[in-house]
Amino acid sequence: MLLTITTTHRPATDLGFLLAKNPARTHSRKLSFGAVHVFYPEAGEERCTAALLLDLDALGLVRGRGREQRTLAHYVNDRAYVASSFMSVAIARSFSTALAGRSKERQKLAETAIPLSAEIAVLPCRGGEDLLRRLFEPLGYAVAAEQLPLDDAFPEWGPSVYFRVRLEATCRVSEILNHLYVLLPVLDRDKHYWIGRDEIDKLLAKGEGWLKDHPEREQIVQRYMGRKPSLAREALMRLVAEDDPAPDETDAARAAEEEALEEKISLNDERHRTVLEALKQAGASSVVDLGCAEGRLLKRLYEERSFERVAGMDASIRSLEIAARRLYLDRMTERQRARIDLFQGALTYRDRRIAGFDAACLIEVIEHLDPARLPALEQALFGFARPRILIVTTPNREYNALFKGMPQDRLRHRDHRFEWTREEFRQWAGGAAERNGYAVRYATIGEVDESLGPPTQMAVFTQ
Ligand code: SAH
Repeated sequence: MLLTITTTHRPATDLGFLLAKNPARTHSRKLSFGAVHVFYPEAGEERCTAALLLDLDALGLVRGRGREQRTLAHYVNDRAYVASSFMSVAIARSFSTALAGRSKERQKLAETAIPLSAEIAVLPCRGGEDLLRRLFEPLGYAVAAEQLPLDDAFPEWGPSVYFRVRLEATCRVSEILNHLYVLLPVLDRDKHYWIGRDEIDKLLAKGEGWLKDHPEREQIVQRYMGRKPSLAREALMRLVAEDDPAPDETDAARAAEEEALEEKISLNDERHRTVLEALKQAGASSVVDLGCAEGRLLKRLYEERSFERVAGMDASIRSLEIAARRLYLDRMTERQRARIDLFQGALTYRDRRIAGFDAACLIEVIEHLDPARLPALEQALFGFARPRILIVTTPNREYNALFKGMPQDRLRHRDHRFEWTREEFRQWAGGAAERNGYAVRYATIGEVDESLGPPTQMAVFTQ
């Protein structure tokens, strides 16, 4: 397994300081699964290349297993030759200070973007070149990939899943190392070690500053976590939660701002009353409140005896804690407690816990999502959870003109990613209904202005 990292930044030999490995020497160390060597095939003023060679003890790995657990595949496999999660461990052990963005002798340079390239001699890309590009190109890499034949002697056997890959970018050394650390096992998919919860912390630490905004973040997290969907979900939630910070003081202040704007009509209250009425009218038997925040609507839903079961989901743990207190969850009898559920979850992720409810509501939540995540929400909600009734409310941007003192082009809340006009809302809602076999009707909430419409717009989807 061979990975090389090259720079043409001058003096190129500074790469030795950045990686904390002297170019004049070979650095070898033993790991539990083999030996790793760092050496420099080239170390000149203009160009310097560090090579990380991992010499995997494939037989030793098999011997570590009980006899009954050994299969032929444990002996005959590609492990010794291809970059994989072993490579990530080798990177972490060999270049730990560089990964953390530190350099004793060249700290300034460690914080500077320099021309870098990485070559991976044999990289399994389960997902093909397309996935390889979708992973690295958004991070600013020029990607060159050459698919290796299954067997040189028999070209008619066709290509293998292996690629020789070259990545080039102007970035910090820590960036390229962190990207490789996370994405090599994502491409390979099979992790060699048991994946536990601490893996989430590693992923979030190594993904800091780039993973959250990566267009493939969902796939990256899922594949990184191997066959552990619950851990993947938790990791995604923590990424999302960073997107939508838990309500702290600044959040409370922002919410107060929004509330103050809408105060005249006590819109929040009217919203919740309208939603509750619509649910009752539709004869909903159970309801899940998605993005329930601090549980205001959920409390009303719970108090409505016609609902056999209610639940609240939110990405923010702190909001959920407040909701639990508002509902006096800890003082409920067993029977009361059985009627209500409160859990953390991400709306853009298929989640069995929200399937099986007769109705779902999404009250003032979609505008908190990045527009690029809306198709994922649509899939998770309309495609997967598929409640019989779904109620969505969101601000009507046109109405903002009537809020005194609100500058044009401002949104009602700093966390809002967008606010839709009536037309834009209908376009999204109509499309989602049509694509997923729902009917949709629209309603208004709050005092309706003749030309600008209502402050809040509502869509009621039914199957
Ligand atoms: N529904 C509430 C308030 C909504 S505020 C009410 O009617 O008063 C928006 C809420 O959506 C926040 O609590 C936020 O944590 C949650 N949220 C935002 N993005 C989310 C996501 N992707 N998954 C789950 N919850 C999310």
